[in-house]
Amino acid sequence: MELAAEELKQNLANVRARIRAACERAGRDPSGVTLLAVSKTKPIEDIQVLLGEGQKAFGENYVQELKEKYEALGDAAEWHMIGHLQRNKVKYIIDKVCLIHAVDTLRLAEQIEKEAAKHDRIVEVLMEVNIAREETKWGFTEEEAPAAAKAMGALPHLRLRGLMTSAPITKEVETNRPYFRGLRELARRIDAQHFPNVRMDTLSMGMTQDFEVAVEEGATIVRVGTAIFGARDYHM
Ligand SMILES: *Cc1c(COP(=O)(O)O)cnc(C)c1O
Repeated sequence: MELAAEELKQNLANVRARIRAACERAGRDPSGVTLLAVSKTKPIEDIQVLLGEGQKAFGENYVQELKEKYEALGDAAEWHMIGHLQRNKVKYIIDKVCLIHAVDTLRLAEQIEKEAAKHDRIVEVLMEVNIAREETKWGFTEEEAPAAAKAMGALPHLRLRGLMTSAPITKEVETNRPYFRGLRELARRIDAQHFPNVRMDTLSMGMTQDFEVAVEEGATIVRVGTAIFGARDYHM
């Protein structure tokens, strides 16, 4: 179901206000939180409406869809790849994205390194951590993360900027607070090791169900789809 332009604008304004309020509760500067509008399955026209409202950053999950939207809108938007990425598809997005959120294996990191080198480019990435230890989720465990960060730091065309997680689906958002806090704590521990070429200034966490709690716990990027674009229809 597609929303009218006015509704999209209102939704965006509401999400922005909720982020500001969460920042206020946590004593944070709202300029430290980037709202990533997750536009997967949503039409280019919706993205154009939001661009007109000053929304710059858009998140996509599927390589083919990201490619098509990039071809239509180019660098008018900042494109973030947030979905699970297969190694053989890295080459299609390497020159289009400003951040790859879900680097979940070293083999994927090495593939990104290889493609980035071909383009003579440094690509910023986040490491996905399965902080809640869900069996169905991708990502490094908390225990694996420090050594993986060190290994990624050794790849010259990759710049590890921080961590990303998807917390469990829940109706009781407070149950996710410890996971967000745990991700922030893990980033702090990795930072303290001063691995070369590794920075931990970015925490991508929080979606429609729980972005306010994530902001309160230190998110620097929240990934919000449904609260802006309305429910997704995967049967197109
Ligand atoms: C789809 C998706 C989101 C956005 O989810 P909403 O609940 O619609 O806000 C955020 N992060 C990832 C990784 C996603 O795949």
